[in-house]
Amino acid sequence: MIEESAIHVDVAVIGCGIAGLAAAQFAADKGCTVAIVGTSGATDFCSGLFDLLGALPGEKNPRENPWQALQELGQHIPGHPLHKAGADAVARALERFGKVLANQGVEYTGYREQNVFLPTQLGTIRPAYRVPATMWPGIEALKNNAPCLILDMEGMKDFDAEGMVAALGKSRTGARSDTLPLQGLARGPETGLHLLARSLENDQNLGELARAVRDRLRNGESVGLPAMLGIHDPDGIKRRFQEMVGVPVFEIPTLPNPVPGARIREALYCAFQEEKGIRTLIPGRVLRASARGDNDFLLQTDGEVPRRLIRSSAVVLASGRFLGHGLQGEREGIREPLFQLPVAQPETRSAWHRPDLFHSRGHDVDSAGIETDAWFRPVDGRGRLIYRGLHAAGSILAHADWMRFKCGTGMCLVSAWRAVEGIAAAKGLGFEE
Ligand SMILES: Cc1cc2nc3c(=O)[nH]c(=O)nc-3n(C[C@H](O)[C@H](O)[C@H](O)COP(=O)(O)OP(=O)(O)OC[C@H]3O[C@@H](n4cnc5c(N)ncnc54)[C@H](O)[C@@H]3O)c2cc1C
Repeated sequence: MIEESAIHVDVAVIGCGIAGLAAAQFAADKGCTVAIVGTSGATDFCSGLFDLLGALPGEKNPRENPWQALQELGQHIPGHPLHKAGADAVARALERFGKVLANQGVEYTGYREQNVFLPTQLGTIRPAYRVPATMWPGIEALKNNAPCLILDMEGMKDFDAEGMVAALGKSRTGARSDTLPLQGLARGPETGLHLLARSLENDQNLGELARAVRDRLRNGESVGLPAMLGIHDPDGIKRRFQEMVGVPVFEIPTLPNPVPGARIREALYCAFQEEKGIRTLIPGRVLRASARGDNDFLLQTDGEVPRRLIRSSAVVLASGRFLGHGLQGEREGIREPLFQLPVAQPETRSAWHRPDLFHSRGHDVDSAGIETDAWFRPVDGRGRLIYRGLHAAGSILAHADWMRFKCGTGMCLVSAWRAVEGIAAAKGLGFEE
């Protein structure tokens, strides 16, 4: 390795999913120099709804008040990242991340104490703590059974307006559906929502769509579209579109890979570019990681020289789970491939899953991951720190089981937040360890 060519930063973040993006942002907020390495994470697949805590073990119904659920979480799962971090850190992390997104025209909204229950295109109702502001009028309209027109477009594969209205059932008699012609809008091999979203960043295309919508509107209706009002600045696009149509407009969450997930990634990338010098985004993967002490890390990436070496005094490992290879499932068990960290996991591979896929206690493999201290620093089986400067954040952590407890984004943000607080404490940047 040619170490002279290494870039030197305070914090190196491994992984560009929500946890990694948030950690890079929070570390830059503290004035740290940051390099973040990775390709787009599971953000590209996620609905763009922010879950905080929607369910507790052994309960059939989703929780209305996530903060109340958070108070009870420790009795069930003392090692859960949300419980470890505490409600105060959760609130701060959510607030800061929300501000960064809002500054890029991607505002989130919701109730302070309650989960929002919103209808999906499958007609199911799902809880989320924060939802894109572009979706809010639809939540209100469908809750109050107000008249609304739900639209899809010719050739659209990822959203079916008629199917949604049918799935919403007879109780929502206010909703009806229609299909718009594509006209001059994006035409590609397939009428994907991402392509449409990009084409609607052009005001001429937006105007054409607004004219087609106006032609089909009946008195008193609001308009629901699949989430497709731009990748960048959806709030501004929705505002302009609403003015053109002349009635309230709302977006509807869609199936993976939905546009709002890509918006989060793009918004954070844009925020990085606005603070050159503090943050460096390196596309690619870390191939090797080594530590020469508690606070001296060297990462080798698959990018080009001179950027392929990163030397840092702290690392946030936000490399995710099996999908992104942050954890690897092998015959002998689950392993963490970069730092060879111990992974808390079932004793045998046969104990990973229960025979019943929908078992109320879930599957033990979903709780496997990295054990940490309160600052999300990995520890070994006896609770001893591995390196003082190494932190882990996001879905790589043990005990999270985010899918079952509907806590994905909350768990990612708060572990990134606490990891950075730990780094700041160690550097004397204003936090007590
Ligand atoms: C289909 C789907 C739907 C979801 N829906 C919701 C939802 O509605 N609400 C909600 O709150 N959450 C949702 N989530 C969950 C939420 O997005 C997760 O919390 C998130 O996926 C975990 O984020 P992460 O940053 O920990 O990991 P990831 O998003 O997996 O990112 C980790 C990244 O690290 C990269 N990486 C791994 N190894 C290396 C390496 N050596 N070098 C560089 N990079 C590396 C991986 O390639 C990956 O890109 C959803 C997730 C999925 C998959």
